[in-house]
Amino acid sequence: MTVPGTLYIVSAPSGAGKTSLVKALIDSSALVRVSVSHTTRAMRPGEVDGVNYHFVSHEQFNGMLQRNEFLEHAQVFGNLYGTSQKWIEETLAKGFDLILEIDWQGAQQVRRLLPQSRSIFILPPTQEALRHRLTSRGQDSGEIIEQRMREAVSEMSHYVEYDYLLINDDFAHALDDLRSIFRANQLAQARQQQLHHGLLAELLA
Ligand code: 5GP
Repeated sequence: MTVPGTLYIVSAPSGAGKTSLVKALIDSSALVRVSVSHTTRAMRPGEVDGVNYHFVSHEQFNGMLQRNEFLEHAQVFGNLYGTSQKWIEETLAKGFDLILEIDWQGAQQVRRLLPQSRSIFILPPTQEALRHRLTSRGQDSGEIIEQRMREAVSEMSHYVEYDYLLINDDFAHALDDLRSIFRANQLAQARQQQLHHGLLAELLA
């Protein structure tokens, strides 16, 4: 019997480096998958449909909503975002750990539905670093950046709701911290017991 994986929620203000950290983690771990959300927001340069997001119209999003296809959904910066339930269930059942990169509103919904999920909040080292990262993307105007800074402060105020807090000062160090969280949970007694029941039976005979 396959041991089901753990569901992880990862949240961070825009510009904290969440997506790069998650990508580095899944690139180096065969046991971890990341969910691709559905969104109504416009595609940014360099983004690929089906890879970064499933980009859908409002009609398609509302159709999924009415058919109860979302595990969670929220409006963020005026756009709709949602996590499709079916793929999550199938992937966890296959034994993969699974990451949802979602905002604090979605995190609250997932915690209510799946209390056994683990949640991680990623913080930038300083406000200046966050502003610098938002500016150096070169994708947004000054006004949008100031709006994103305000939204970042509001997002960060929810850090207390999370199980783990990670500061992305040095990328390699933060990645190491992230890996440690996943490794520690993989070693949890209940999971190890199921994985190693043969060994345990033999040792205790
Ligand atoms: P962006 O549009 O910059 O990629 O993401 C904006 C915000 O939406 C981020 O905080 C991101 O975590 C959040 N987000 C992305 N996908 C989802 C989702 O499926 N559900 C929820 N609740 N938030 C999401």
